[in-house]
Amino acid sequence: MANSPERKSRLLGTGEIDVSFEFFPPKSEKMETALWSSIERLAPLRPEFVSVTYGAGGTTRERTHATVARILRETDLKPAAHLTCVAATKEEVDAVARDYWDIGVRHIVALRGDSAGGPDVKYEPHPGGYVNAADLVAGLKKIARFEISAAGYPEKHPDSPTVAADMDNLKAKVDAGADRIITQFGFDNTHYLRFFERARAAGIWVPITPGIVPIHNFKQVASFAAKAGACVPSWLARRFDGLESDPATSHLVAAAVATEQAMDLVDEGVKKFHFYTLNRADLVYAICHLLGLREVVERSQARAVV
Ligand code: FAD
Repeated sequence: MANSPERKSRLLGTGEIDVSFEFFPPKSEKMETALWSSIERLAPLRPEFVSVTYGAGGTTRERTHATVARILRETDLKPAAHLTCVAATKEEVDAVARDYWDIGVRHIVALRGDSAGGPDVKYEPHPGGYVNAADLVAGLKKIARFEISAAGYPEKHPDSPTVAADMDNLKAKVDAGADRIITQFGFDNTHYLRFFERARAAGIWVPITPGIVPIHNFKQVASFAAKAGACVPSWLARRFDGLESDPATSHLVAAAVATEQAMDLVDEGVKKFHFYTLNRADLVYAICHLLGLREVVERSQARAVV
């Protein structure tokens, strides 16, 4: 998949890089303001879509819906609503999906979710619910012609006994109708690249978009990574070592780290990136800028300026 430096420089800045942004539904008015200022900052970069997560245990059903509905109402962005199978019957999940379709949402990120007791508690499907993400994808495809994204795990899902079993599960999601895989975040690109090759070898031909998380707070991201089964390489820890009480430098390092990761993937031919924004725009905006993305000025506005 390698790119020549010349090809890379042509790629960056020609609109060939596509990005998507993930947000979480806000819990308070203050968080709502922060979310919307991030959306306003990132929207002119024309992401392919923006997704809104569904709280662990299905706890944010209303807030996810309200955020997605507001994105539809107030912006030109294409929202994707995350939906999980946790603690709900098929009928309840189907009703949420139908409601999304009725308000104009055409893209669902279909997930199993984690046990309502947290990721450390063994997942048990709700009796009468969808058993896993593949089952949910199949159910959603029966409801309407949704575009569907599903999750992939370059470092293997923690519940999966083997890498091969995890790949079989990924294939089941695609065979059920998933149109795209978005990966769990990670920091060592070799995991993504191996995963990509294994998926292609398994006959999975849909796009596999790497998930990138900018490191706003190293300790917090390392703790998320441990729960998600993503390793934090020692070289990465060393880069943030000693910066615990120096947020300004930590921020600069975070921008450099994420940009280096994304640029290395561009070298490997990757053209789409999914950013876990954590509802903050600054690092993501800077990384997108370095990837060659520029704000799209509406023609009418541009004419007015001339
Ligand atoms: P699945 O693909 O169904 O399964 C995950 C693993 O469980 C499989 O690899 C397999 O090992 C095992 N498994 C599945 N079915 C079976 C079976 N029948 N028998 C035995 N083992 C089985 N979580 C949220 O709560 N809300 C979100 O908004 C959210 N968004 C996410 C977005 C992305 C891009 C990613 C990568 C993850 C997200 N998650 C979210 C986390 C996700 O819910 C968890 O990782 C969850 O543990 C697995 O979900 P899945 O859809 O990958 O599950």
